[in-house]
Amino acid sequence: MTSFDHDLFVIGAGSGGVRASRIAAGHGANVAVAEEHRVGGTCVIRGCVPKKLLVYGAHFAEDLEDAKRFGWQIEGKSFDWPTLRDNVLGEVDRLNGLYQNTLDSHKVTTLLGRATFIDPHTLDVEGKRVTAKHILIATGARPFIPDVPGAELGITSNEVFHLPALPKRIVIAGGGYIANEFAGIFHELGVEVTLINRSETILRDWEPALADRLLTISMAKGINFKLNCRLERLEKTGDCITVHFTDGKSLETDCFLWAVGRRPNIEGLGLEAAGVAVTDSGAIAVDADSQTNVPHIHAVGDVTDRVQLTPIAIREGHAVADRLFGTRKWRVDYSAIPSAVFSNPPLGSVGMGEAAARNTLGDVRIFTSDFRPMRNVLAGRNERALYKLVVDAATDKVVGAHMIGPDAPEILQAVAIAVKAGLTKAQFDDTVALHPTMSEELVLMR
Ligand code: NDP
Repeated sequence: MTSFDHDLFVIGAGSGGVRASRIAAGHGANVAVAEEHRVGGTCVIRGCVPKKLLVYGAHFAEDLEDAKRFGWQIEGKSFDWPTLRDNVLGEVDRLNGLYQNTLDSHKVTTLLGRATFIDPHTLDVEGKRVTAKHILIATGARPFIPDVPGAELGITSNEVFHLPALPKRIVIAGGGYIANEFAGIFHELGVEVTLINRSETILRDWEPALADRLLTISMAKGINFKLNCRLERLEKTGDCITVHFTDGKSLETDCFLWAVGRRPNIEGLGLEAAGVAVTDSGAIAVDADSQTNVPHIHAVGDVTDRVQLTPIAIREGHAVADRLFGTRKWRVDYSAIPSAVFSNPPLGSVGMGEAAARNTLGDVRIFTSDFRPMRNVLAGRNERALYKLVVDAATDKVVGAHMIGPDAPEILQAVAIAVKAGLTKAQFDDTVALHPTMSEELVLMR
């Protein structure tokens, strides 16, 4: 019988890879993981976690402003970017250490370096040959940078957490999650923000009414939008960057951030040597068990481009480890996945939007609540929240919940349980309101 160095070799110590390594090791497997950057992956090192901390840090700007209406006089307030940046990066270091401890305490061997397939069971990690019975590819995704002249003058979400100083002006390309989240952060920190997007809207996959609400509020706050625009090139002009558009117009900025999507990280993996197939869009092709066309090679998370969300990568990694080394065989359920955009204000969504529900279910009932949160009223802040429930008329089940407003992601997580459980609108209505809250609107929509 062939013997291998490891039962499982994981490429990439991000959310999916670390979970798979830990669970497989817990089942008694001999596991090694290779990581070319830092253990923790995109979410912990240069994504969700530091981003959310910046969102918290930035929001103090409005909180301190609103505080006056609540009787607080705060004199001489000022903001110091290096303090926020370094505290956030310090927290990233702490979490990186915790992730490494998790691997170590489960006796997972960590190899720092890039892993490349030599053959279907052998990998090269910085000149060292390693063999494994099973291999899991969990290499994530990286920011996509379009092929326009001067593209290299822009930074991506990889670099944005390390800025030596805040720019005076920033242009953000993209209208999705990252673009809107950083537009909110930079605007609150006093940077002049211009968001440019190729289509005529932002958050194209979200409920149009919610995306419109974010656009309206963001514009009222002072964020500039240039939609329906095509970039021609970026040009270095002195200390600035000039952004040229195909309509002949241009604008000058101090910093340019690419946020136009993320692509699966497959370069340099040597997939050909292993015979692993990829999809037309360059993602690793997998089945419902995250198995590739090579039966002993699996792939999870963003590199498979199914749902680019951390909790999904974690579940996929867990399911693979259980399937290969445990007794419980299960599959990830992709229905009713909640998601949020941590813009200002934030959005949360679970289940079907109105258009998708009408297409698949036919007869649907829509309930909306458009209200000014109590706190905004006293603060004199003219920003309205919008909640929307999509109900299947035939069964009365709430099949979608969508909201924009303060704390929407926190509220949405709880609603997602109800939607996932298939609760009906009548059951929402039967629930007594918790007064006074914003979330009580969910049980008061008639
Ligand atoms: P998104 O997919 O959210 O948005 C991409 C944006 O870039 C869209 O506005 C799109 O325009 C535009 N775009 C796409 N391709 C091009 C192109 N070739 N040229 C110009 N513009 C283009 O991408 P993000 O980078 O913001 O985020 C990547 C993924 O990461 C998200 O999809 C999400 O899954 C995940 N993520 C999740 C977060 C969260 O859960 N809070 C936070 C950050 C990221 P158009 O409008 O025309 O489609």
